[in-house]
Amino acid sequence: MRKVLAFDLGGTKFAFGVVAEDGTVLGSGRVETLAEAGPAQAVQRVAAAAQQLLTELKLKPADLLAIGIASPGPLDTARGCVDGSPNLPGWTGYSIEGELSKAFGHLPARIDNDCNAAALGEYVFGAGKGKRNLVYLTISTGIGGGAVIDGRLMRGANGNAAELGHIPLTMDGPRCGCGNQGCWEAYASGTAIARRTREALAAGRPSSILKFAGSIEQVTTHHLFQAMAEGDALAQDIWAESINYLGRGLGAVINTFNPDIIVVGGGVTAAGDALFVPMRAKAFAYAFPRLGAVCAIVPAALGGNVGVVGAAACAFEAAGSP
Ligand SMILES: [Zn+2]
Repeated sequence: MRKVLAFDLGGTKFAFGVVAEDGTVLGSGRVETLAEAGPAQAVQRVAAAAQQLLTELKLKPADLLAIGIASPGPLDTARGCVDGSPNLPGWTGYSIEGELSKAFGHLPARIDNDCNAAALGEYVFGAGKGKRNLVYLTISTGIGGGAVIDGRLMRGANGNAAELGHIPLTMDGPRCGCGNQGCWEAYASGTAIARRTREALAAGRPSSILKFAGSIEQVTTHHLFQAMAEGDALAQDIWAESINYLGRGLGAVINTFNPDIIVVGGGVTAAGDALFVPMRAKAFAYAFPRLGAVCAIVPAALGGNVGVVGAAACAFEAAGSP
């Protein structure tokens, strides 16, 4: 069975794995990124660790089809590098793609935005198997997106397509990490939901959330879910508002892409049906009925493997397979 080498670059961890063409992870590992120390040391260490994994699996670079790299954006895909990523300061201009290719016998290599890679991963190996039009969304510290339309991963002019978290919902809303105001993720990411909860508590509304969190500063979405489970009114209000924001954004996504399926991952999906049931209803209320009628909204299937498996899907695509 054909295999690829996949890398999942993050601000703190640099994961890697050997993945077969049925999506099975044959072996994996990770090193610290130590982002502040720059790209060369990280790429050197991850390449050494991946080389060791290949040895353990009795594989040589020549036994592999290609290399896939999932990386935080923004990217400069023409040069194979990150381009001003806030989590990877000083990495701009260093060709991660070129250096990893060189380290493994000049195998063809491709770098993709991590959410775009996740979209292709879910499309080929996960919840989107058998569909033609998939949008992937992760709701965690931010909101990230990726889209596979008519069977092709949408990369855009320089590899940065589908920055869905930065759809502006309002003119003058909360400040987003990107510098604009009122972005979708500034209202509805896990971070934003926790911030809105803290603001409501600071305004003096009574709630059992504090019993779970200890103090306003420590409130996370986890405490919100705990309070919701025992019927806390403030928690339920914040959640209903969050669902409304998520539904508005999803309505825009449905109207833009006309997907068969929207696959949703990220920490906030731990809420399960308490998220998916009302979020679907809101999304379909905001979307055109004809487009909503053909769109499923489902949890992601790849879980913690999404980074490596997504990068592997990109590698197989780079090699013209599957
Ligand atoms: Zn933004």
